[in-house]
Amino acid sequence: MLRELLVSASRSKKLEHIVSTSPLSKNVVNRFVAGYDTKSVVQKVTELHKLGIYTTIDRLGEDTLDRNQADATVAAYLELLRALHAAGQTHMAEVSVKLSAVGQALEPNGEEIALTNARKIVEVANEVGTTVTFDMEDHTTIDSTLRILGEIRKSYPNTGGVLQAQLHRTSNDVVNHAYESSRIRLCKGAYAEGPDVAYVDRVEIDKAYVRDMRTLLESKAYPMLATHDPRLIEIAQALVLRTGRSKDTFEFQMLLGVRPEEQKRLVELGYKVRVYVPYGDEWYGYLMRRMAEKPSNLALFVRSLTSKN
Ligand SMILES: Cc1cc2nc3c(=O)[nH]c(=O)nc-3n(C[C@H](O)[C@H](O)[C@H](O)COP(=O)(O)OP(=O)(O)OC[C@H]3O[C@@H](n4cnc5c(N)ncnc54)[C@H](O)[C@@H]3O)c2cc1C
Repeated sequence: MLRELLVSASRSKKLEHIVSTSPLSKNVVNRFVAGYDTKSVVQKVTELHKLGIYTTIDRLGEDTLDRNQADATVAAYLELLRALHAAGQTHMAEVSVKLSAVGQALEPNGEEIALTNARKIVEVANEVGTTVTFDMEDHTTIDSTLRILGEIRKSYPNTGGVLQAQLHRTSNDVVNHAYESSRIRLCKGAYAEGPDVAYVDRVEIDKAYVRDMRTLLESKAYPMLATHDPRLIEIAQALVLRTGRSKDTFEFQMLLGVRPEEQKRLVELGYKVRVYVPYGDEWYGYLMRRMAEKPSNLALFVRSLTSKN
C-alpha cells in the first residue's frame, strides 16, 4: 500500500512541483542532498573535508534511455572533477557513478556505451588525482557492471566497485574481488530483490554482511564498509583488531545526513570515514523511488530526521 503510494508519488509531476517548492521539504532535501549544481556540491564537500570526512559524490540521475542524457551526465561529472581540482579538494573527494546514468540500459549496445563513458570519467578523475567508484544497481545489471569494472581496472586498478550483501551470489563475488588493493564497497543493498536471488530476512542479510566483511578484511583488498548499522560497525572494529589491519587500509562509508554524529565520532577515533554526497536536480525521483523500493530506506531517512546520533 505504502509502496504503491510512493511509486505513484514518484511519477506525479504535480506532486513533484508541490514537494519541490515546499519549505518543509527544502529542509529535508538539504539534509540528504548537497544542492543542485557543481558550486553547491563543491562547497558542501569542502565543509565535510574540514571535519576530516572524505567524500564520494554522486550526480543524481539513473536509468537513462536517452543518449543525449547519458552524454550530459558525463559532461557534468567532468565539470565536477575539474571544479574539485580547481578548489584543491581532490585529495579527499572521489566520485560515484551509476552506470545506468551513462548509458548501460540503452539498446542495443548499452554496455559498450557505458564502458566508453565510464572510461572518460575515470580518465579525467585520474588526471586530477582522484578515483571513481561504480555504484551497484539492481541484480540484473551486476554481470555487466562487473565486466565494465574489470575492463576499466586493467588501466586504472584503483577504480572502486560495490557488492551488495543481500544477494546470494555476493559471497562468491566478494571472494573473486578480494585481491590486493581492490577497492570494494560492501553495502546491504538498496534494491528490493526477490527470494530467488536475495536474502529477504534482515537477520540473514546482516549475517551475510558479516561473512563478506570478514572475507574482505582478512584479504589484502581495500574494504569500504558502507553501513549505518551500529552492530555491524562494532563487529567491523573487532574484526579489524583481530586481523591486525591498520586504520588506513579500509574505510567506513555513510550517506550524507544519516548519523552525522556517528561519522564525526568515528573520525575522532582515528578511522577513515567517507560520506556519499548526492547532488543535482533529480533528487525527487531518486528519494521517492528508493523509499518505494524498500520500506527500510524510508525508515533510514525518517530515523535520521529524529535521531541525535
Ligand atoms: C556510502 C554508501 C554507498 C551506497 N551505495 C550503494 C550502492 O551502490 N548500491 C546499493 O544497492 N546500495 C548502496 N547503498 C545503500 C545500502 O545498500 C543500504 O540500503 C543503506 O545503507 C541502508 O543499510 P544500512 O546498512 O545502513 O542499515 P539499515 O538496515 O538501514 O539500518 C540498520 C540499523 O542501523 C541503525 N540506523 C540506521 N539509520 C539510523 C539513523 N539515522 N540513526 C540511528 N541509527 C540508525 C538502526 O539501528 C538500524 O536498525 C549505499 C550506502 C552507503 C552508506
